Amino acid sequence: MEDRLFSRIAGLFDVEAFAELRVMIAGCGSGGGQVASQLVMSGVRDFILIDNDVLEPENVIRHVCGIRYLGQKKTEALSDVLKDRNPQAQIRLCNENLLSWDRLEAEIQQSDVVVLATDNEPSRYRVNEVCVKNQVPFVVGRVFTRGIGGEVFAYRPGQGGCLACLEQVLERTQFRDGVREIDLMSEEEREEMYGLDVEEIKDSPGLTVDIGFITAFHTRFVLEALASAAPERPKFLTPIKENYLVWGNRAVHPFEKNFQLQRISVHAQDGCLICGVDNEN
Ligand SMILES: [Zn+2]
Repeated sequence: MEDRLFSRIAGLFDVEAFAELRVMIAGCGSGGGQVASQLVMSGVRDFILIDNDVLEPENVIRHVCGIRYLGQKKTEALSDVLKDRNPQAQIRLCNENLLSWDRLEAEIQQSDVVVLATDNEPSRYRVNEVCVKNQVPFVVGRVFTRGIGGEVFAYRPGQGGCLACLEQVLERTQFRDGVREIDLMSEEEREEMYGLDVEEIKDSPGLTVDIGFITAFHTRFVLEALASAAPERPKFLTPIKENYLVWGNRAVHPFEKNFQLQRISVHAQDGCLICGVDNEN
């Protein structure tokens, strides 16, 4: 049975190409879980899962793990789901808080790519800093409030900027307008702009299909990083030039239509405190 599991994609590329590459899943929620699930079905076998949360009833409609996993650690539940797709997967579980985990740097050094799928800025910035310091690629995905769209950014060591560079770029463009600020806006501003009250914003992160578009892009960018790290680049995976993508699910400000796509190349920014030249040596 096991030698037939990947027969339907074996003609596309050598799935063995990814067998030796280790992927860290930093955050095993709805985003990280979906990306991990798509990766294991693409031949990735070596995972390290990091999360200290438990699967709650409200997670079930958007998570790859269903009701049977309620009350379990998300790492354990996700591991079970991944092994259900490929029993040969080697999965290590770390029930840790990314912000305080003292082994984070050591584990990142042992990873070929990091899937960054946490739900808060401090953990994203910690991973950005450690990955830049150790020149380990990562891909971060984020769904905008109410699932109106989302973004995927890939840090590629030596090519393009880091997450802090992205912030600098976004501050100078219209792409940021109305997308990120919604979390920071005052209640009055939100109501004026979107006609929503706080509860609607906080507890309405979008449908699983809204997240699905973002996790599909997220996965594809991770496969790009793996293809670049593989001994031989699979021809099936043609290179992705840009390192940042903004996707609009709906015609809601700042998007003008359904399925609006913006591709952007974020270059390393002069004076970036994280990846700037002065910090490289
Ligand atoms: Zn930077």
